[in-house]
Amino acid sequence: MKQGTATVIKNTGKDYLLSELPVWKPFPAVIRGKMRLKGLHTTNPVAVGDIVEYEAEDEPNAVAAITKVFPRKNYIIRKSVNLSRECHIIAANLDRACLIVTLDFPETKWPFIDRFLVTCEAYKIPVTIILNKTDLYGPEFDDLKNYFIKVYGEAGYEIKETSVWKNEGIDELRHFINTGGLTLLSGVSGVGKSSLLKAIDPSLDPKISEISLSTLQGRHTTTFYEIYPVTGGGYIIDTPGIRGFGLIDMSSEEVSLYFPEMLRVMDGCRYRPCTHTHEPHCAVKEAVDRGEISPERYNSYLGMLEEETKYRQAE
Ligand code: GDP
Ligand code: ZN
Repeated sequence: MKQGTATVIKNTGKDYLLSELPVWKPFPAVIRGKMRLKGLHTTNPVAVGDIVEYEAEDEPNAVAAITKVFPRKNYIIRKSVNLSRECHIIAANLDRACLIVTLDFPETKWPFIDRFLVTCEAYKIPVTIILNKTDLYGPEFDDLKNYFIKVYGEAGYEIKETSVWKNEGIDELRHFINTGGLTLLSGVSGVGKSSLLKAIDPSLDPKISEISLSTLQGRHTTTFYEIYPVTGGGYIIDTPGIRGFGLIDMSSEEVSLYFPEMLRVMDGCRYRPCTHTHEPHCAVKEAVDRGEISPERYNSYLGMLEEETKYRQAE
């Protein structure tokens, strides 16, 4: 019998693939017995990115047994589509997230971006915005693009501009991922996620296409997540369906903590807790009025509050 520590690199239902990273040598594993994590009702007790302890018989093709999950530094979850309060852990131990967005072709909706950013803040995952297809934004987009960069830059986010077609910003993005650790790549369909991945590391192409295809065909089945090694260093996890990638168990008072520009000023609010909606002498609303917090971001905030309230009332 041998024992070791490894990282979960793939999770397909009850089956797992592990590798002793940084060594890339995947081997199969299953969970032995019941493994329940305290306080978290999840459909998968072990997720991609988890660092686990395993045992395996000393024979070729032995399937290892996961015996322990080490504490996670962070994780992201998706609410179950059904109404059971279960959630599914998409990935654990992320070092950064990159959200790929486009101003047009297709237009990434700002509330969607904000929701993603809030989720990352809540899970303590540093996030970078990748503004792709910059080759398409002619002079008529100058105002919008500058405003976008101002809003998200001032909120506190790093924005990297890329164009796969013009091969701009690609080396920089590759270096960023090559710095190591696990990078989550996300973006709505059409923003150029597959094209970017292929440009960053052509060896990822067939694998990624394969997974995209299988998710298309298997829409109604479980979505599987997988980690890929990137040539030059680092690992990526591609999340095809992030529609349900959501906030969970967040109180109304909590939401504004995840808007960095609101967090910076909310000490000045007269009322505690302040929802920054109707209260007098609210520092957040005053910052919106002065133009220091963008109306778009503030509207996203209001939308999230509303959704949270609805969600709570439905319970
Ligand atoms: P995904 O759905 O996010 O994986 O997007 P794809 O990589 O499939 O790209 C969607 C479309 O956008 C394809 O037609 C790509 O050729 C195109 N595309 C991707 N990146 C760029 C870019 O930087 N500039 C332009 N003009 N088109 C791009
Ligand atoms: Zn306030």
